[in-house]
Formats: sequence, structure tokens, C-alpha cells
Amino acid sequence: MLPAWKTGMREVAPKVFAYVQATGETGISNAGLVVGADGAVAVDALMVPSMTRRLVAAIKKTTRKKVRSLINTHHHLDHTGGNRFFRGATIVATAKCRAELAPGFPPVPLLQRFMPRFAREFPLLELVLPTVTFEDRLVLHDGERELHLWHPGTPAHTSGDALVYLPRERLIFAGDLAFHYVTPLAFQGHVGQWIAAAERVLAFEADVIVPGHGPIGTRKELTLMRDYLALVRREAKARFEAGIPAEAAARDIKLGVYASWHEAERLLPNVMRCYQEFRGETHLPIDIPGMLEGMERLRGARSTHTCL
Ligand SMILES: [Zn+2]
Repeated sequence: MLPAWKTGMREVAPKVFAYVQATGETGISNAGLVVGADGAVAVDALMVPSMTRRLVAAIKKTTRKKVRSLINTHHHLDHTGGNRFFRGATIVATAKCRAELAPGFPPVPLLQRFMPRFAREFPLLELVLPTVTFEDRLVLHDGERELHLWHPGTPAHTSGDALVYLPRERLIFAGDLAFHYVTPLAFQGHVGQWIAAAERVLAFEADVIVPGHGPIGTRKELTLMRDYLALVRREAKARFEAGIPAEAAARDIKLGVYASWHEAERLLPNVMRCYQEFRGETHLPIDIPGMLEGMERLRGARSTHTCL
């Protein structure tokens, strides 16, 4: 059974809040808020205007302090689309995140196909780029509090992932380095290096992990995610070596408990990305139309399966 979770702001440590969105599916991500002495720091800006307006309203209910800094954990639209609603804030991200974002958001028709339920709002998006960038580490200080921004040094979920670690509070805002009960998506990432990055995140001294998608959790949920990626990579490897095409491999792989996670059909892009990794081709983009069509077929196949 999957846990259920609701959209809303929750205090996860004194004056540290997680804004979590149900259901965590494509485009529906989480954010964070750290209220300091002089101002607040927000972690991620969500995607379309209606979502970010709700987040901003929740922030205003939580604190009167102004959001002085906004951290983008990576370049994906569901974390950066709402940047423009944080006017006046310094936007901080890895240099790689900014470079990925600089050419602009994906074309509106592609977004509308990928996430039809938000189709009406995609034409309203406006890009606002990070203004402060870092390579591997950056520490924001606010009185006693420290926010450690950390990039794993290699691609994982994307090329420019960062997490925010609060050592005193033993808490991590993991961005999309962590997915809890929502299938992780590696279509622009590197599955092998994501597994290694997850191991390193598990070594942080943290009791609470706020993922990019899914409910607030602990190392237990991050371990489950790491094990999912390891299972997919191992099973994909066997089928790659047997010459089985990616989509047939995705149909064949038994997901066990992960079959009940949200967006299970992301198995296909994850297998496709593993195949690119085995061929040494992760610098090339994944075939997005092929991926979307294959996921639609896989979703169909799996729901028929559930009916039987
Ligand atoms: Zn995301």
C-alpha cells in the first residue's frame, strides 16, 4: 500500500517548512521554506502560475519575512517555472543548472503533450534565470543556521542537480535526487551515477528527507528509490546484453513493489537511458517522441494487466 499525502505546508524543523504537493506525478513537485532572522529562503518554485500562486500564498501565511533567496535544485520546469513569482529574490543554482535552463523551456506543444492537464497554463510561462551560480558547494549563513548546497559532481537526475542540507536540523531538501513512492525519472539523467549519488546522500547525517516528488520521508524512502534504480539498471543490463530492444525490456522487467508507485511507466525512459549509458551515449538526448509513445503503450499494457 502506498502512503497517501496531501498538498500543503508543514513544519519539518523549527521555522523550516516543506510544501508538498499531492500526487507528486509529472509536473507536480515539492518546495521548501527556511525562515531566518532577516528573510526567508525558498527551495524551488514549482511549475505553472496557479501552482506557484498557491505556494506564494502559503509562504505568506507562514511568515511575514520576504523571500530573499530562491534555490533551484535543477533546471526542470516543475522546479523553475515559477521563478518569476519570486521577484527581488536572488536565484541560486549550480552553473550547470543555469546552462541547461538558459536556452529556454521546452516548446509549449511538447509540454502540452507531456502534461495535458496543465496545457492551458504553459503559454503563460516566462523564464527567469538564476543570478548566482556555484560549482560543487555553497553555504548560505543566517545567524546560527547554515544551508549547505551540494552538487554530486556528476549527472544524476539531471546534469546540474543540487540538494540543500541543514546540518543542525539534520534535514535535506533533496530536489529530484529523491523521489518517494513516485517513480524516479532519468530521461535526462544517468542511472548509474544517480545510484552513486543516492548512496552519498544516504551518508549525510539527516533524519528528514524532503524529496522533489512524493511525501516527506527519511533514509528509508531514499533507500527504496536507490534500490529501484539499481533493480532497473541490473535488469536492463541483462536484456541489453541479450540484444532485447528497450521497450520489450521494459515490458519484461518485473517491478515488484515498485509497480504500485506513481508513474510506473517511467520504467521505459529509465531503461532507454540505461541503454544509452551502456552504449556510452548519455551525452545524446533521449528520443522524446519515441519515449512518450512507448510510455503510452506501456501504460495501456499495464492497466489491461491490472484488470485481468
Ligand atoms: Zn521534478
